[in-house]
Amino acid sequence: MTSLVIQTAFLGDVVLTTPLLEALAARHGPVDVVTTPAAAALLETHPAVRRVIPYDKKGRDAGPGGLVRLARRLRAERYAVAYLPHRSLRTALAAWLARIPQRVGFADGWRWLYTEVRWRPRDGHEVDRVLALADFPPTNGAVTQRWGTKRWPYYEKLVGRLVDRVRVVLVGGPEDADLAEKIVRAVEGDGGRRRAVNACGRLTLRQSAEAIRRAALLVTNDSAPLHLAQAVGTPTVAIFGPTVPAFGFGPRGPRDRVVELNGLMCRPCSAHGPHVCPLGHHRCMQSLGVEDVLQAIEETGALRRRD
Ligand code: SF4
Repeated sequence: MTSLVIQTAFLGDVVLTTPLLEALAARHGPVDVVTTPAAAALLETHPAVRRVIPYDKKGRDAGPGGLVRLARRLRAERYAVAYLPHRSLRTALAAWLARIPQRVGFADGWRWLYTEVRWRPRDGHEVDRVLALADFPPTNGAVTQRWGTKRWPYYEKLVGRLVDRVRVVLVGGPEDADLAEKIVRAVEGDGGRRRAVNACGRLTLRQSAEAIRRAALLVTNDSAPLHLAQAVGTPTVAIFGPTVPAFGFGPRGPRDRVVELNGLMCRPCSAHGPHVCPLGHHRCMQSLGVEDVLQAIEETGALRRRD
């Protein structure tokens, strides 16, 4: 009987759940997944997934009516077990209302709605914490920037330093397109010759993942492209400001590098990064210079053959 995984959190969380999907599929066969419309495009051709059930919790499925409709649909499928990695009342209620007999969730979630409770490991990478939901052992390390304070402010200067060495493609969502266009224009060559490509808002999620897979290197904030790069094995330089890799969402590859300001007392200041710096100076990001990121890029070794 097919297992169900309900993961309707942010896109990055869905990417970090894919190792759980793969592990469950290896054990029991491909799984069904309830996820957001944005993440559905990423999972619908995933080999570990039998079927994606989109749940538009902020759109057409918002409110109790949408939750009941989802529960009815799940109930008709007669799933034997549901895995609930997201600490969400809505998710727990959906599985409970669907009368799925085995509902597995973490102890820091909604225990009274689960039939099996697992302890979420406090340490380690988020991938391993999610795998613990189904008692899988930890692994061995191997596009869109929604939160304003997690965005590094010096991409324009960085791109200006890189365009003579490599082709630069800027990936992100439609909301990043204007900023990316500004960067592309700032590094134009003689006669307006374009030396970088603005792909923000022009690629589907899967196309963005493929673009990242083909890249020699990704430089990113703490955001969904970081997790896409990890999923496709692309060397990564991840720039962390108000959040920290210790939250469990950092890069893990042997060549990957993190750029961050250690010793800043206010850091980290929130789980997802605030929209604006509560102290007004945004020092966690403002202090990370282009040279810091260029040094991290060199340390990955990913661009050496391109010189
Ligand atoms: S309070 Fe500190 S960690 Fe948070 S955004 Fe401001 S500088 Fe960054």
